[in-house]
Order: sequence, then C-alpha cells, then structure tokens
Amino acid sequence: MTQQSAALPTATIAGYPRIGRDRELKKALEAYWKGASSQEDLIQAGADVRRATRERLSELGLSEANAQPSDFTYYDQVLAVTTTIGALPERFESLRTSTGGVNLDGYFTLARGEGDRAAMEMTKWMDSNYHYLVPELDENTTIDYVDSAIVDQVREAQEAGIAQRPVVVGPVTYLLLAKPSDHAGENFHPLDRLQDTLHAYGHLLMALHEAGVEWVQLDEPALVSDAWDVERQQVLKAVRDAYTWLSAIIERPQLFVNGSYGSLGDALPVLAATDVEAIGLDLVAGPVPANADLSLLEGKTVVAGVVSGRNIWRTNLEAALTTLEQLRDALPASARVTVSTSTSLQHVPHDVERETGIAPEIRSWLAFADQKVGEVLTLARGLHEGRAAIKAELDADAAAHQARAAHPGVNISAVREAVAAVTQDDRTRAPYAERLAAQNERLGLPVLPTTTIGSFPQTREIRAARASWRKGDIDDTAYTQAMKDEIAHVVSLQENIGLDVLVHGEAERNDMVQYFAELLNGFVTTQHGWVQSYGSRCTRPSILWGDVTRTAPMTVEWSSYAQSLTEKPMKGMLTGPVTIMAWSFVRDDVDKAQVADQLALALRDEVSDLEAAGIGVIQVDEPAIRETLPLRVADREAYLEWSVGSFRLATGSAAPQTQIHTHLCYSEFDVVIDAVDHLDADVTSIEASRSRMDILPAVAEHGFERQLGPGVWDIHSPRVPSEEECTTLLRAAVDALGAEKVWVNPDCGLKTRAYEETEASLRNLVAAARTVRAEA
Ligand code: GLN
Ligand code: ZN
Repeated sequence: MTQQSAALPTATIAGYPRIGRDRELKKALEAYWKGASSQEDLIQAGADVRRATRERLSELGLSEANAQPSDFTYYDQVLAVTTTIGALPERFESLRTSTGGVNLDGYFTLARGEGDRAAMEMTKWMDSNYHYLVPELDENTTIDYVDSAIVDQVREAQEAGIAQRPVVVGPVTYLLLAKPSDHAGENFHPLDRLQDTLHAYGHLLMALHEAGVEWVQLDEPALVSDAWDVERQQVLKAVRDAYTWLSAIIERPQLFVNGSYGSLGDALPVLAATDVEAIGLDLVAGPVPANADLSLLEGKTVVAGVVSGRNIWRTNLEAALTTLEQLRDALPASARVTVSTSTSLQHVPHDVERETGIAPEIRSWLAFADQKVGEVLTLARGLHEGRAAIKAELDADAAAHQARAAHPGVNISAVREAVAAVTQDDRTRAPYAERLAAQNERLGLPVLPTTTIGSFPQTREIRAARASWRKGDIDDTAYTQAMKDEIAHVVSLQENIGLDVLVHGEAERNDMVQYFAELLNGFVTTQHGWVQSYGSRCTRPSILWGDVTRTAPMTVEWSSYAQSLTEKPMKGMLTGPVTIMAWSFVRDDVDKAQVADQLALALRDEVSDLEAAGIGVIQVDEPAIRETLPLRVADREAYLEWSVGSFRLATGSAAPQTQIHTHLCYSEFDVVIDAVDHLDADVTSIEASRSRMDILPAVAEHGFERQLGPGVWDIHSPRVPSEEECTTLLRAAVDALGAEKVWVNPDCGLKTRAYEETEASLRNLVAAARTVRAEA
C-alpha cells in the first residue's frame, strides 16, 4: 500500500439491491434454471444489472472513486465467498473445475442441490429476512483463493470508468456463520480454520490490489452478536488475529471493516488496535460509541451508518446530522468521517418514486434505496460544509416529519387508549387443565389427532383467478365463488383422507402477512417494493405506517363456509402479531410493543368473531418469533416479553373450550422453548422431520405441559415420506412426550406443494397415526 493512498469519499453506501429494479435478475435466473434461456443470456442479464446499478448510482451523485459498492453475485453473498475460496462441502467435490473453483452451474448446484446431493443449508442472515447459504467446514475442507469473480467485477466497472469498492463478507463472520460439516471431528469449530481462510483472503486482497483497487469493504456483522457458540474472547481473538494479519500484507487495498446490524461493542477497540484504515459503525441499530473507544481511532476513517438500510422511512436528517456531529467532535482530529447506510440497502426496494399507488402524503415519508443514497449525500454535505449548505433539505425533511406526526391515522386515541387499558388478565386464559377438559368434551378427538398447518397447494388456477379479479376481468362474486369451490374441494379431500381437524386451505391468501395487511387499517402495500429473500426469491413487504384498526371480520366468511361443509372441527387461521411485524416494514415512530399490541387487539376481535361463528379451533401462526430474536443475548428478555405478550393478548379472550393452536417454522427450538411455553397455546406445531426429531430431547428436558405437533413430513421438498418413516418419527415423539400430548401434522403449510405429493403424503401420515394409536 502506498503512502498517498486515496481517501474514502465523504459519502457512500454499504451495499445496493442486486435483483434489479424490475427483478431482472430473478427473471433471468428462473428462465435459465428452467432451460428457457442460455447461459450467455443469464450472464448478459447480470452484466446489465451491474451496469444499471453503476449508472443509477452515478446519476444519483455517488460517482467518486470508491464510493460505489461492487457487491453483485447471482445468488448469495456468503456463497460468493465459499466459491471464491473454493470451500466446497465434500458431496460437491465433483463440481470442482481444474482451476479449483466451480463454474456458474456448479455455483447454482451448491445453492439448489441436485438429485440426492442436498443443497447447502439456508438460514436467516443476522436478524433480517434475507437468507444465506451456510458454509460447511471441517479439518480437511480445501480453502484457497481459486475464483476471481470479485476481481473481474471491479475490472468491469473500471472499464466503464468507475472505481468501485468490492464488498466481501469478512473472514471472521464467514467462519462464525459456518457450521461443522458431517465429516468434522467432535471438537472442531469452523474458527479453527481461521489461518487458512486468512491466506485465501490475503490472496484475494493481493489480486484486488494488482487490479488497481484502492479500497475493499469486509463486512463483519457477526461481531455485533454475542450469541455464537464460542466465547466472546475467542471471537475477539479471531478479530485481532485476522485484521493484524490482513493489514500486514504490503500489497493490498485499504481495508474498511464494516460492523452492521448492531454495535461492535468490545470488538471496536480490538479493531482500532489493528492497522485497518476504516471501520464502519451502525448508528441506527446502536448508539455512538463511548468517547474512550472513539479516542482510539487515530488516523482512521469512521464510516458512520446513520441512514437505515433496514427500513423504508425517510431519515430524520436533523437527528442524523446531530449524531454525525457528535461523532466527529468525539473523534481525534486525525480521524475522518464518511457518511453511509447502517447496512447494505439490499433489504429495501429500489425506488419509492414508482409507488404511484401510495397516497402522495404517505409516499413523502418514505425513502427506498435510491432516496437513501440522496440522504447520505445530503448529510455528508451538511457535515462537511455546515448546516447552512443543506438548509433547504433540512427544512423539507422537518416538514415531512411534522406532517407524518400530525397525520390522523398515525395516532388514533381510541387505539392508544385500548392498548393502555390492557391488563395482565387480558393476556391470561383459564388454567390449562380446565381448558383441556372443556376442549376434550367439545371436540371429542382421538389420541394422536391429525391435522395440517393451514395452507393447501396454491395452484395455478387459484393464482389465475386472483389475477383476473385484481385486473377486473372477473367480479367479486365470481372470485368468491372460485375460492369457495376450492375450499369445498380441500374439505372433501381431507375428509376422504381421514384427517381429524380440518383446514379451509387458505386459497384466498396471496401471502399470510399481506392478506391481513390489505384488510387492516394502518398499512399500505407497494407495487414494485420487492426485496430479495434468497436467490431469485423476492418478497414485497407491506408498510405499517399508522395505528392499526380492523374495520370488519377478515377470515370469518371463509372459515364458516368451510365449517358448514363438514362435521369435523374446522381450524380458523390467523397470522400472529410478531410475524406480521417481522415480514412488514414497521413504523419507527412508536415502540414495537405498542405496534404488537395494536395488532393483537385487532386479532383478538377476529378470534371472538370466529368463536361466535362456531369455530372451535383457532390457529395463530408465529413462524417469525425466533428470527427476530435480538442478536445480543441481553436484549432478548425484553423482546420475548412484548412478543409473547402480544400473542397472549391476541388469544387471551378465547373461551376455555376454544382450542388455540400456534405454528412455528423452525427446529432450533432450544433457545425459545421457554418463550413458546409462555405463549400458552393449547397445541403447538413445529418443524421437526427434516431434523429427524432433534428437538425432542430439549422438549423432554424442559418439560412441556401442553400438546405438541412435531412435524412428521418435511414439506420443503416434493418427496413423499413413507408410512414407515412417519410411523418411526411419530413413535419417537410418543416416547418422548407421551401419546396424550402428541399431534400428527406436517412440518409447515402446503402452499408450495403439488396435489399429487400432498395427497400421497397425507395418506401416509394418517396411516401412521392409526398404527401408533393402536399401539398406545
Ligand atoms: N398457516 C400457514 C400455512 O400453512 C403457515 C405458514 C408458515 O408458517 N410459514 O401456509
Ligand atoms: Zn411453517
């Protein structure tokens, strides 16, 4: 590294959406996977997305050298490191090319699996709704710099006249996100491979330097969490070792280590003591660090993430500027400040200007990725040239925030009073024993009752009917009839299969959150607001902007129609408050507990209406309660308090004879088992078959008083589980919990499955229940 190295510009962003303004990359990927387009077409589409991003960012004013991130990859940013360093799980060894890496098809095979080679596991990135592919490492995994895609992409930008800054997941985070492979020794931890990983990153840095790259961003979000399976001291040691080693490389770009999704905490002084040139702080998720820590940042650039990369609200420029000034004043005179986003903008859609369906007033409160770029640039000017330089922007922003605060829908006194009046009693049902007796008498179910999680296949016909209805090609009556026909079909199929507690199949729901967002007041939905969830998968979160109210029942018509078709109990289906929040963009002007309770009160009314319509079993899904668990252990108790509290408020008025179910979508049950217990649902269904009932020891050890339905059919693939397989899993559940507590159900909803495997699998599941029932 040369002495007169380029400074980082005064404004930057930590990353940008990769999927394309009109989801061009999604479309290109899916066409290629289907065999409907060539690899050249896909590569061209990738290049087009990168060019569009460069041009757009330049047009927005982010054109200085090193200001733009280079963070493109076809599927996932963690997978991009896996292929860069050639760390293939052993089952994929045959994909390795002569140069030690994988080609593009190999990259997709890692992500999507092939035949009996299971895809790499996918899991949630930090506390977001983005999923990454979990590296699998052991003592013998090859780790070497073998793939130049990261270098090639910056070269492409250079040729177009733009010096971009490559963004790469950092080595410590890469290893903390990894899991030991099936071949790893008992005491192996991925961090054991730090030195080899650093060698590979070292070669990457040298290759980037040779390509003329001046700055590289290494993302180290894992440092903000203390919930890893190693001691914090070991994490800090890895940070010290990694950045001492990497910064000692002579021929390298300058290093910008970015800590996002929370505070770096005690990792900040450790990084400060190394020779990295820049450190990124998330000042949205965490406070300005203590002066004592800031004083250690002599000569460094502090990249201040004051514009949220996680939500879609317009930044409060006044508050952000105050934070920046406070930071600058506390830093040594030799330190510099660059204004940035708190995280990559990959979590937000491209451009709010396109959302012409949202009322202009509400739209003026919002900022998507492109608007956030503008905010960063404005704040950088304000910080470096003084407040007067951005007076017009500050005034306009203050006016927008005032208008937002004064909007009648933002603060509805009846709603606030209802939340304020909630008592502990409202969150408490009758004792379980009393409920159990009442429910047994009312429902008369056999032991090991069978049910499903709610949705049945969302067929092409269902989606086509909904599309025609939205376009106005068919009217409300015709659409309702189409959905009722579907419900009738699903009910008779379940009766034929012999299930005990039936569902209506959720045909009328486009999505389990958006369906409710469209019916409740306080939300708006977007037309183009897609964000990447994983690979080519995108979601379009709704925006929760105001106080929540329910105008009319939302699900009663469908559920009571379904109940009218059968003598068997029909389960009503609702999405819980925490999941509605986790999968929406939630307002930032009131605390989450308030929002959760508002949603809970609306759902509570729905529960009462379902009961009044004669529905005796009601499921409130909370698949997201685990994913929004705070990254810092110390923050978890408060989170669980309000999240569990809101579920209890939603269900607390249910009569003893109404059976309340909940569903959770994951198998790492251990950390939240206490919380799940406190939900106080009568029946909890959870994912368990993929993990072969791994959860049972934890449940048995913890003790679980109420009923549990550990899934016996992994619905994530089209594979039909045999009757024996279901029987084996079920016997294990009965052994651990006792037959009287076990329910028999799949792992999750069936909306992504086809009818063929659904029917075959459910028949096997019912047969297994009968077999084990006879043994009990
Ligand atoms: N009731 C929903 C369904 O069956 C639950 C889905 C989920 O947990 N993600 O589709
Ligand atoms: Zn689920």
